[in-house]
Amino acid sequence: MEEALKAPLSKFSTMKIGGEADRLCQPQNVDELVSLVNQLQEEGEPWSIVGGGSNLLISSRGVKGTVIRTAFLKDINSTNSETLEAAAGARLPHLAKYAAQMGLSGLEFAVGIPGTVGGAVIMNAGAHGSCIANILESALVFDSQAGDIKTIPASELGFVYRNCNLDPSRHVVVSAKFKLSPGSSEEISAKTQANEDYRWRTQPIGWPNLGSTFKNPLPDKSAGYLLDKSGAKDLKIGNAAVSSLHANFVINLGGATSEEVTALLEKMKESVFNTFEIEMTPEWKTMGDFSDEELAAWIKPASQNHIS
Ligand SMILES: Cc1cc2nc3c(=O)[nH]c(=O)nc-3n(C[C@H](O)[C@H](O)[C@H](O)COP(=O)(O)OP(=O)(O)OC[C@H]3O[C@@H](n4cnc5c(N)ncnc54)[C@H](O)[C@@H]3O)c2cc1C
Repeated sequence: MEEALKAPLSKFSTMKIGGEADRLCQPQNVDELVSLVNQLQEEGEPWSIVGGGSNLLISSRGVKGTVIRTAFLKDINSTNSETLEAAAGARLPHLAKYAAQMGLSGLEFAVGIPGTVGGAVIMNAGAHGSCIANILESALVFDSQAGDIKTIPASELGFVYRNCNLDPSRHVVVSAKFKLSPGSSEEISAKTQANEDYRWRTQPIGWPNLGSTFKNPLPDKSAGYLLDKSGAKDLKIGNAAVSSLHANFVINLGGATSEEVTALLEKMKESVFNTFEIEMTPEWKTMGDFSDEELAAWIKPASQNHIS
């Protein structure tokens, strides 16, 4: 297992923000991952898991304890003609292209999502009208509190929009099995490519970001639309700014801190609330040492800033 002390984490988040982890461990296989978490849990040592870091705001003040990165766990196997099993650290864009080559349909939506299988299950990642819940058969999950590992059928994971009932501070997604539909490899590849091309046209590629900042609060109005119409595209705090290409994306202009990003999120929430009286909920997860004030900004509704 690769191991480092006082490891800088910014390079492991697509936002390029994050202080040091006391210790960083990168297991080389599933057994190493499970025994590491088990040991840390038994010793009462704090631990947290990072996948692709594409939905994770890591504190600039750093992370206490051991951060476990799953990047080396990237095996993909086809268990039968309709099923692919992928380890926690397998990248969704790679998995989507692999499935297309194999003539398996269902993962086309995932090609532009720069996360891992583990993070995608936790987040119920989705795009282009589909999501993980639609194709997941089961996940192999280590429950650190119970100390056991078991296969959980998708129907028991309580999937909702961008969430499920697994708690990343307790459960470790070790691998996931996807049920796909056989089809023409050419057609599946063409659809996958079209989805990838769409990303390049519509998202601020080049600037470090974490994808969509807020969940869509209404079925018919996207968070991006509401932010755009409320003038949020002009917002900027320090080196954190709202993208001029897509108002639901926050970009790091270079050297932004987690404090600046959190303050910007508050301004974005306020902007939508002042215009539409709609509460916005962040989609991202946080990791590390955030002040009470910062954490309050993540959960406090924008309406509480208003005196009626
Ligand atoms: C440019 C861009 C575009 C994006 N587009 C989309 C999109 O279209 N749709 C969408 O849904 N998302 C999108 N995202 C967000 C993100 O890619 C997804 O949420 C993705 O599923 C996160 O996976 P990850 O591996 O990066 O997770 P991370 O960011 O590393 O972690 C997210 C959470 O999952 C936990 N976690 C990670 N791995 C494990 C594991 N093995 N076991 C237990 N917990 C784990 C972490 O602790 C954390 O709480 C986008 C992000 C970017 C930067």
